Amino acid sequence: MLGLYIHVPFCSAICNYCNFNRGLFDAALKERYVEALIAEIRGAGGAGNGLQGVGNAPADTIFFGGGTPSLLEPAEIRRIIETCEDSFAVAGAREVTLEANPESVTEQRLAAYRSAGVNRLSFGVQSFRDDELKRLTRLHGAARARAAFHEARNAGFDNISFDLMMWLPAQGLAEWLESIDAAIALGPEHLSLYLLEVYPNAPLKDDMARSRWSQAPDEDAAAMYLAAMERLDAAGYMQYEISNVARPGRSSRHNLKYWSDGDWIGFGCGAHSTRDGIRWKNVAGIEDYVDRIGRGHPVATDLRRLPAAERLGDALFMMLRLTDGVNLDEIRRRYGVDVWQVYGPDLEPFVQNGCLMRDCDRLRLTRRGMLLANEVMSVFV
Ligand code: SF4
Repeated sequence: MLGLYIHVPFCSAICNYCNFNRGLFDAALKERYVEALIAEIRGAGGAGNGLQGVGNAPADTIFFGGGTPSLLEPAEIRRIIETCEDSFAVAGAREVTLEANPESVTEQRLAAYRSAGVNRLSFGVQSFRDDELKRLTRLHGAARARAAFHEARNAGFDNISFDLMMWLPAQGLAEWLESIDAAIALGPEHLSLYLLEVYPNAPLKDDMARSRWSQAPDEDAAAMYLAAMERLDAAGYMQYEISNVARPGRSSRHNLKYWSDGDWIGFGCGAHSTRDGIRWKNVAGIEDYVDRIGRGHPVATDLRRLPAAERLGDALFMMLRLTDGVNLDEIRRRYGVDVWQVYGPDLEPFVQNGCLMRDCDRLRLTRRGMLLANEVMSVFV
């Protein structure tokens, strides 16, 4: 089944490390953007963008990502979900995720999202330490993140995820584990742990130089990752992907489509799509996107059918992120390729050094291998 991704590119302020496709919130532009989104989804339902067979295709996940999707009004989220339902065969047992920033919600607003059809929340918590949040120029503090979680529970959400970031400026192992422990104490169903990447032109880079904040050495970053995973294991979370853990049965069904060679369609500026080996992405600019939709011009660019070898390489690359790893029989069935025959000589050294495990029908990274995942995965691309 398809996953439907809806990009909401607005934020109340731009964080100093952010490299996502987003812009400052503007109420008038947001209204035009929502109308454009609805038109694009309807168009896809009518096989828009020149894609045949998309209309009324079965889908079972909807994911509002951003930016800050919780800046959309619950009524707007409802309209978008209803448009998805009109345009696709959205399964009854669907997962509908809304990314939310703690400062942008109240219990009442969360309850309204829930009645609009959202059944999973992903909070951009990033840290439970106020000093770290300040360094990242986030608008919320740790107390607001905790309050948002309780408000979500009171509003009836039983599927909540936190994003946490590690390797922050001036963060050591002890500070990082404070955030992990604070998250465990609250008990969300899911956690995503991201490594901060400081991009060359990010304002954070200047802030770090000015304030003499530095990131811990690489070995410490590895220790931070391993220590967090051990604590989460002990707390009953199951790691199912390099950066993601969940309570049993609470993995992100939407994100699993990216990691298990699934199909998804993205709506909104900069959104990417992959279906039946065809890949495309929408124009990135908010104004450009709204303008094109208004004129009835296509927003999809770079539409191309992936060559078989690239499709296979991408599938293996993504599947290896999962703790379940690559199902070699499945790959043989789908692609007619014996992975070990093609890549075996390049993969064998990683098996020898304990990064990769091969049992009869699976190829998977060990936890140590997850630290060196990029090196292992480079075999496939
Ligand atoms: S809230 Fe997220 S998307 Fe928005 S500026 Fe901050 S990091 Fe970027």
